[in-house]
Amino acid sequence: MNSKADAQRMEKIVSLCKRRGFIFQSSEIYGGLNGLWDYGPLGVELKRNLKSYWWRAMVHERDDVVGMDGSILMNRAVWKASGHEDTFSDPMVDCRVCKSRLRADQVIEKKGVRQCPNCGSKDLTEPRPFNLMFKTYVGATEDESSLTYLRPETAQSIFTQFKNILEVSRKKLPFGIAQIGKAFRNEINARNFTFRSREFEQMELEYFCRAEEGMNLLEYWKEERLKFYENIGISREKLHVLTVPNEERAFYSKGTYDIEYDFPFGRQELEGVAYRTDYDLSQHQKASGKSLEYFDEETKQRFIPHVVEPSAGVDRTVLAVICEAYAEDEAPDEKGKMETRIVLRFHPRIAPIKCAVFPLLKNKEPLVAKAKEIVDLLRPHMLVFYDESGAIGRRYRRQDEIGTPFCITVDFETLGERDAKLRDTVTLRDRDSMKQERVKISDLLELLSLRIA
Ligand code: ATP
Repeated sequence: MNSKADAQRMEKIVSLCKRRGFIFQSSEIYGGLNGLWDYGPLGVELKRNLKSYWWRAMVHERDDVVGMDGSILMNRAVWKASGHEDTFSDPMVDCRVCKSRLRADQVIEKKGVRQCPNCGSKDLTEPRPFNLMFKTYVGATEDESSLTYLRPETAQSIFTQFKNILEVSRKKLPFGIAQIGKAFRNEINARNFTFRSREFEQMELEYFCRAEEGMNLLEYWKEERLKFYENIGISREKLHVLTVPNEERAFYSKGTYDIEYDFPFGRQELEGVAYRTDYDLSQHQKASGKSLEYFDEETKQRFIPHVVEPSAGVDRTVLAVICEAYAEDEAPDEKGKMETRIVLRFHPRIAPIKCAVFPLLKNKEPLVAKAKEIVDLLRPHMLVFYDESGAIGRRYRRQDEIGTPFCITVDFETLGERDAKLRDTVTLRDRDSMKQERVKISDLLELLSLRIA
């Protein structure tokens, strides 16, 4: 944590996530299970909106990318060939005094002496590799022959299906294959809420190209991905690009950037953008004995394509979006007295609920009927929430806290009781400015659709 204020901010965010149904601890009634989380009614909407926008930007809006959805369990040979079975590990250290199990990079060093961050003891084991893949068995026998792993990344199914997809899509280089799906890592220390989880989702693109295009495409994808984060409401000032130094890069990578975000608990990786050369396809070609080459019709050459990989975490991005959106400001209560308002300033594009509809009073049938008509009008196009209980100010506050960008109120003007010119108009209230405008019901759909696109 950077400071006490940051720690408090994070605590408030975690508590809001639970209170309003974004994120719960998995298996909570049994005491939970470390590093595992469930998304509640609002969390699942936020997550779906993020994934759909990624898919739209990375697949639908491009001619050069197609998608796939691979299985989580794969032949163990995949993990041998990719190098995961031998090397997908983190160095682990044990504290002999308090028995903490630590990632080596968590151990603190004071004047060259290693210390346990939990109890301060200097009695620590030497670092040893701990493989992060979860083991499982396929079929009825539990032995070496049936052993495999839950995938620790989605990328390998893209590489192993490269040839099939190349044939069916008839794409020419450069082109990409995208996938969103679950990945599992038995992290030594799951921490920082959902940031480091043991089960999470990735959004990965493998963009295949010629060797000479690799370095330029690495730059291109870094820029594209930065734009993506800005398009979901993350401010550029809180995003940072780390050029991963030679000694920390995978040996086959010619260049890797980490896109980092200033979380309240520090600057941390959101996404890796890596130029992986032809390493992955070469490994699988060698191990499977099947050709994974590309045939260039113009030059009549056969070769293994190179690849640039932007690999993002769904859960980390959801957490970044929530941290970015969380704000406290001042708003007048029912009597005009200023009170603290908690608001999630989500970009309307990814906000879980786009619009809430309120009848001013719940016991006035014509108001209720009109409000329900508006719900029916909007519902096929966006997620709408109907609420008739409590004072209007309270209803606004409840929506602010979950990031609903627009609230519509049906009042007596809507019924034309005071001014015939205002018949069939409503107030449209903006979450961030709290300003209200009078809008015709017939204009609502177009107006809102534009603002949430
Ligand atoms: P870290 O260094 O933080 O462990 P990594 O460099 O191992 O991450 P990659 O293998 O590059 O991560 O995975 C790509 C992306 O997948 C990460 O940028 C992150 O968004 C996501 N990711 C990886 N591990 C986890 C995890 N344990 N929990 C949540 N998301 C993760």
